[in-house]
Amino acid sequence: MSWSYATHYVCDRCTADFSLSLPLNTCPRCGGLLEVQYDLQQMKQDISPDVFKGRGNSMWRWHEFYPLKEVENIVSLGEGGTPLIKSVYVAKELGMRNLYFKNDTLMPTGSFKDRGFSLAISFAKELGITKGLTYSSGNAGASFAAYSSRAAIDATVLVEYLANPVKKAIISLYGANVATLHFNNFEEITKMLELAVQELGLYQFVNFINPIRHEAMKSYAYEISEEFSWQAPDFMVHPVGTGGGIYGAWKGFRELKTLGWINTLPRMVAVQPEATGPITRAYQSGKRKAVKHGDSSKTIAQSISGNAPIQDGERVLNTIYDSGGFAENVSDAEIVEAVRWLGHDGICAEPASAASLAAVKKSVEDGRIQPNDTVVCVITGSGLKQASIIEQSAQVSTHKLNATISELEALIAQINRT
Ligand SMILES: [Zn+2]
Repeated sequence: MSWSYATHYVCDRCTADFSLSLPLNTCPRCGGLLEVQYDLQQMKQDISPDVFKGRGNSMWRWHEFYPLKEVENIVSLGEGGTPLIKSVYVAKELGMRNLYFKNDTLMPTGSFKDRGFSLAISFAKELGITKGLTYSSGNAGASFAAYSSRAAIDATVLVEYLANPVKKAIISLYGANVATLHFNNFEEITKMLELAVQELGLYQFVNFINPIRHEAMKSYAYEISEEFSWQAPDFMVHPVGTGGGIYGAWKGFRELKTLGWINTLPRMVAVQPEATGPITRAYQSGKRKAVKHGDSSKTIAQSISGNAPIQDGERVLNTIYDSGGFAENVSDAEIVEAVRWLGHDGICAEPASAASLAAVKKSVEDGRIQPNDTVVCVITGSGLKQASIIEQSAQVSTHKLNATISELEALIAQINRT
């Protein structure tokens, strides 16, 4: 039995193999994206799901599925193992019997990005990497900063000019170098990031360009399948920016199917804001490549507002098509309603996360999702980082009273009438 069953990288494009001991971002031969491979046949012979019982609750209990070699290199703040909450309020509103929320707002830095950065920073530490760079709308930057600081990796975060000030401050709080990036087009950023590797020796942590981050997102599949007694849900619904979450989760479910631990695969649903939605636009035209589309400043869903997909969005589109899922756009008004609904189910979510629920509502109404289907919405980030939207969404009370029992009685009567 091995601590890790990872074997090597394979390039998506030219299929060349590379050793996992190399500090690689994209393929050195052709610039394609690299994918970590595993010896699942050996794993199938060696272990069963029972192995994972009694290993605590963090995502590191699934270490056989990650490319890290040594346990001493783990950089952890207690990420993963978040609650899978069965909906009460929203399920009743929509007439659904099996709607669940995977509540990643409870992660160490308040977003799902912690899964990816715990693994990617641990892996970088194992390779002796000391300087790193990422580009972020906020959540990834905060997570990168926190884990880098714990691993003594010098972190530089370039934030989008639209990033909200709270998220930017949190990145500084965790000790990273932060700068706001101005650019004319996404190609400029891509070129600069390439040169940062070649000329400055900065290892990149941008989703997919970094081949490790999404490996940790496979933990969604392991955690959720285990909770459903080793069965996959019918639908997994993800908000999608670059798509590391949905793509990683899909890879995890496929691994479990190959191992024979689950019998079916979920349909993967990608959700984006109407203002941009490049993946949705490509899906609706039946294409496997997405192009830049829309204006990122025109939506409150900051974390998924990116309008230029990485490597044409191919990995995300393949996930949607291969799983028999779909992509959907939602409006800001629909997102605000979903923020409110999640609140009534006990979750304070940022708008990008609530987008997944807004898409579920549309899909139930038009019949793509049936009332009996088991549906998991991934709630990726906390609303506390985007407090102004919570204030707008919550319909804040204006009731006032003097401290008398008669006024209290009158107030409760009035509230019950409305
Ligand atoms: Zn290649």
